[in-house]
This record gives sequence, structure tokens and C-alpha cells, in this order.
Amino acid sequence: MPNRYRIPEPLSLIHPRSLKYLSSQLQSLVRGRLWLKILIGMFLGIIIGLILGPSAGFVSPDVSYTIGEWLALPGYIFLALLQMIVVPLVFASIIRGIASGEDMEQLKMVGLRTVGYFLATTALAILIGLSLALLIGPGNYISSELVQGTMGSEIPEVTEGAVTTPGIADVPGLVTNILPTNPLGSLVTGQMLQVVVFSIIIGLALVSMSPVQSKPLLDLLGSLQEVTMTVVRWSMLLAPFAVFGLISKFTLNLGLDALVGMLVYVGTVLLGLLLLLAVYLLIIFIISRKGPIDFLRSVRDVLLLAFSTSSSAVVMPLSIKTAEEKLGVRPSISQFVIPLGATINMNGTALYQSIAAVFLAQVFGVELGFGALLLVMVTVVGASIGTPSTPGVGIVILAMILGSVGIPTAGIALIIGVDRILDMSRTSVNVTGDLVTCAVMDKWVGGKKTAMLEKFEDSKLETQRQILGEDVIVNSDNPDES
Ligand code: ASP
Repeated sequence: MPNRYRIPEPLSLIHPRSLKYLSSQLQSLVRGRLWLKILIGMFLGIIIGLILGPSAGFVSPDVSYTIGEWLALPGYIFLALLQMIVVPLVFASIIRGIASGEDMEQLKMVGLRTVGYFLATTALAILIGLSLALLIGPGNYISSELVQGTMGSEIPEVTEGAVTTPGIADVPGLVTNILPTNPLGSLVTGQMLQVVVFSIIIGLALVSMSPVQSKPLLDLLGSLQEVTMTVVRWSMLLAPFAVFGLISKFTLNLGLDALVGMLVYVGTVLLGLLLLLAVYLLIIFIISRKGPIDFLRSVRDVLLLAFSTSSSAVVMPLSIKTAEEKLGVRPSISQFVIPLGATINMNGTALYQSIAAVFLAQVFGVELGFGALLLVMVTVVGASIGTPSTPGVGIVILAMILGSVGIPTAGIALIIGVDRILDMSRTSVNVTGDLVTCAVMDKWVGGKKTAMLEKFEDSKLETQRQILGEDVIVNSDNPDES
């Protein structure tokens, strides 16, 4: 029975506007068939790259290098713009996601279960990646001329025993390292795991305070979200040219032989991503009896947009909208799980990083024993959590993983040429993982309200917001009484 005299929890009184209302900026990109423009950009990029590359003999290597750099300029600007906004976008979205929770009890339950589920699925993705890479052995299909041709005199010596594995005594130190002693420093240097921990702590503190005090900061973070999504919209104008330029640059540098030589590696990663997708489809079928075609049709727009933008952070508004409207997930779950998942749940990236690590180990003849594979696994779990959700960063973080298991980091030069297509594909799988997590949590964590009631209240609040011109609505009455 509702208790008239119970003091309501601050979290149940504040209602920030959902990020999903910013999805209109993204939907115009889907309607404008951004994905088709991107595919055309890719195709033309390969053609131009092959024509202007030194192997075709039309231009000298020096000139072709300069052309490549200029063609890639829109791509560099595109990547820089998205990298510029990802930290504020993630920071604001995680905090406001926490504030949209029903109450502390529900938040605690969703939080713990979501993180546990993320860790389990990431480990599964890595297992799929490692098994495929060991089974297919993509590194054995690479000729030494190709390695020589791509890396020239940079071919590194493999140093045996240079790897230091952290011992049990190091664990407490590693754990405390996650807590940012200098949060602005973590924000500035894009240490994603620390940014996430910082955002969660700030979010929890905010929703424990009186709404009068938390509202101004939540309002400010709402403006920050709007600003970042506006920059996203602008940067998307560049997306097809960016893909065209970056692909032509790398095709120019690699040449046709190298591209063909890398086909087995690319195929292994794509196969792994497909297998992971199949696992997701199975999970969805088990929990909601939704068939694969039906599910893929529901989430198609999000997948195409993730493929076009290569950024799970950018598609967050559309992911939340799709989770709620197409998968029937409660807003209090989707608004919390999606921002968190887009930042720390990167199963596609983890799978890719583990295949790339084994591939390069095979190329350089580094023997990976059971201990080393275990180390790859643990490092990849941490690294994929810390990978910012922007284009092309999975490969940057990969350098760290390689270093920690003694594989020469110079190998990145070999795989970066084909990374564009892999980045686009793994990002689509990353966001599918987040959507599936939403559906799982919606089933697994109960709530006081049904999805229908939550959605009804959400649209009522949205009308109220428009009338009042407010971003965060504070209910002064006890919701238990209504
Ligand atoms: N682009 C990926 C994402 O945003 C991250 C990566 O590079 O793997 O999900």
C-alpha cells in the first residue's frame, strides 16, 4: 500500500529529457541513404587508390603519397570532429542515463547485471575470435614480401620474454587506477574507463541529492548533449568523402597485391562478427521469441547508421529510440543501458582485436602459448572496455594489447589499410550487442511500471517539457501516490 508519509527518493522525482528525442538529426541521415553514399565512396576510393597507386605506374611514389594525404583530408577532419565530441557526449549521456532510472533499487540491479552480462559476452566474443584465428591461421597466408613491402625496413625484431605479466599483488593497484584522481586529466586524454567511472560516481551523487540542486547540472549536461549531436550532424556531411579519401589513401599505399593478400584476415574477422551476430539472434529468440529476420528488420536503421558512421556513441539516440519503440524496452532501462553499453560494451571490437593480435603473432612468428592467449583475453576485455566509441580507435587500442603480449606494434601498419571496412562492420555488431542487452535487461530486471505505462508517462512529460520549455522536469508529488 502506498505510504503517504514516506519521503520520496530524489531519483524518482527527476526526469531528464531522453536522448532519443535527438534522434531526428540522425534519422534524416538514414532517410538520405547515407549507407549507400558510404558504399559508393568506398568503391570509388578503391578504384582511385588502385589507379593512382605506385604499382599502376601512372604517378611516382612521392606524388602518390602526397595525393593520398590530400585525398584523406576530409577523413582526418571527420575523425577529428567525432573524437572531439565523444568524451562530452558519453559523459553527459551516462549521467543523464542514471538520472532516468526508476529508483535506486532498480538502478543497482540493472547496473550490476548489465556489467556482469557485458563481461560475459565480451569474453565469449574473444573466445570466438581466438578460436577462429587459431583455426584458420590468417597470418599463414601472408607472404614475407607483403610484410616487407608494407613495412619496409621497419620490420621489428621479436624480443623474447619482454612481457611482464601483472602478479596478484598488482591487482589492488590496478583496481584503484580505474578511479581517476585527476578526472579532468582523464577527460582530456580520453581514458574511457576512467571517464565512465567518473560519470557513474557523479551521476549517483546527483541522483542522491535534492532535485533543486541536481537540476541545474542535469540541464547543463542536456545542453552539452544537444551541442555534441549538432556537431555530429555537421560532421556527417563529410562522411562519404571521408570514407572515399581514407580508403583511397590506404589502397594507394598498399596496392592490389597487398589487398588481396589480406583477404583471409578480413574474411576471418567478418566471419567472426557474423558468428557473434548469430549468438545475439539466438539470445533474442530465446528471450522474446522474435525471429532473426524480424529482429534485423526492427534494428536495420541503427545497424546501417553504425555502419556508415563507425561510431557507437553517435548512434546512441537512435539506438534508444529503436530499443523502446521496436523492441518494447522500458525507457528507464534503455536510457541507462545504451549510453553505458555504447561506451564499454564492444564485443565486435573485442573479437576483432583478438583476431588481429593472433594474426600479427602468426605474421611475426611469435608463439602464443596458453598463458599468452589468456593474457590476450584479459587485456582485450580491458582494452575493449576502454576503447572510445569513435571510428578507427579499436586499432589504436590494439597497439597497447600487442605491446603487452610481446607482438611488434609496427604490425599495425599492415592491417590499417583494411581497417575501414572492419571498423564499420564491428561497430554494427557493437550496437547490436547493446540493443540485445537492453532486451535482456528488460526481461531480467523487474520494475514497478510496465513498458506501456513508462512510455505513456514519458510522452506526457515530453508534452509538459514543451509547454514549460524545461529540459529536466521535477515532480514535486510522490509518484507512489499516483
Ligand atoms: N568504431 C568502434 C565503435 O565505435 C570502435 C572501434 O574502433 O572498434 O564502436
